[in-house]
Amino acid sequence: MSPSPHGEAPDGRSPDDRCPGVLRVFPAADGGIARLRFPGGRLRPADWTALAAIAADHGGDVHLTSRGNLQVRGVRDEELLRRRVDEHGLLPSASHDRVRNVIASPLAGRLEGHHDLGDLPERLDAELLARADVTALSGRFLFGLDDGSGDVLAHAPDLAAVAGGPGRPVRVYVAGRDAGIEVPPGDAATVLVDAAAAFARGAEGTWRVPGSGDLHDLVVGTLSDHERTSAGATDPRPTTAVEAPPVGWVDTADGLVTLLAVVPFGVVPARLAEFLGAVERPSTVSADKVIGVHGLTEGMAEQVVRVLAPMGMIFDAASPWVEVTACTGLPGCDRSLTDVRYDAADAVRRGALPVAGPQHWVGCERGCGYTGRGARVRATVDGYRVDRSSDTP
Ligand code: SF4
Repeated sequence: MSPSPHGEAPDGRSPDDRCPGVLRVFPAADGGIARLRFPGGRLRPADWTALAAIAADHGGDVHLTSRGNLQVRGVRDEELLRRRVDEHGLLPSASHDRVRNVIASPLAGRLEGHHDLGDLPERLDAELLARADVTALSGRFLFGLDDGSGDVLAHAPDLAAVAGGPGRPVRVYVAGRDAGIEVPPGDAATVLVDAAAAFARGAEGTWRVPGSGDLHDLVVGTLSDHERTSAGATDPRPTTAVEAPPVGWVDTADGLVTLLAVVPFGVVPARLAEFLGAVERPSTVSADKVIGVHGLTEGMAEQVVRVLAPMGMIFDAASPWVEVTACTGLPGCDRSLTDVRYDAADAVRRGALPVAGPQHWVGCERGCGYTGRGARVRATVDGYRVDRSSDTP
């Protein structure tokens, strides 16, 4: 199996999980790729400052990934990279380098119907770090913490907890589907990690929890010590949350403001990362590659837009960049038939996108980074072909 420049390959069995980490830098045509995990996509200002310094040492940019992680490309000095990561405390456990893939709803607790997740991402991370029996999980195994809005469930995490609101239990999902099991919020981290450990023991080279079969049943069976609700496995995805725009200005329940933004192709230049650190507010990155800056007063939010929009952050929900993503393509990936990002950017510039709505452009049939959302625009020797999600493997 040939490597992709993301260190990824299609879902399924493989003896060789190529997902990068800090300690396992993946070789690509434009240098090494190192990936850093921030469970729940939650970043402190100091994290952006550290990422800016690391990116400045290497390719010059920080790249958002479809698992809510951050990576740098063009790594040529792995020793320097690890030293910087250590200096900033961004790798708490060498043995857990690639297993801390946790996405969480960025608006949790900030809007009506977006239930507060509290410190559940941090508790889940602590539980993972405390356990030696999860270190064999693949770098693609994904935990999700959903605030009841369904935004995280849309990414079909292998194991997810969905908040039910104040005083209510959380509901557990397996392979993106309701397992019909509810647990007290205080137990959720342990329950998810127990199930992940059972999967790791039985996985035998499988990277993700399948939607059915023995391995799926093994994971669900691990949960059966906990209370099973009468609702059964009916997949009642929550629908009560106030809908927020995909990007833009969000007045939050606490009277403050959250700003949501994208950057073209999820690429954050080191200087922009430095400025995000200088805002000195908590922020998030999502699996949809949306950056959230939270807890702003109106005055601060206006200033952030004024300073960061000219640096490439897009706060306009009508921008095509909200819907257009792309794999690496040439020159970073030598499997690519073309410079996909140039072509996609050119189509955006000319108002000539080949399809309406969300679309992910790829340079070959491998389809790296395509999450099933919207269309896949795939380079072929005869030009680009649009695959709808129903056509794709
Ligand atoms: S061209 Fe794109 S889809 Fe193909 S291997 Fe490279 S990054 Fe992946």
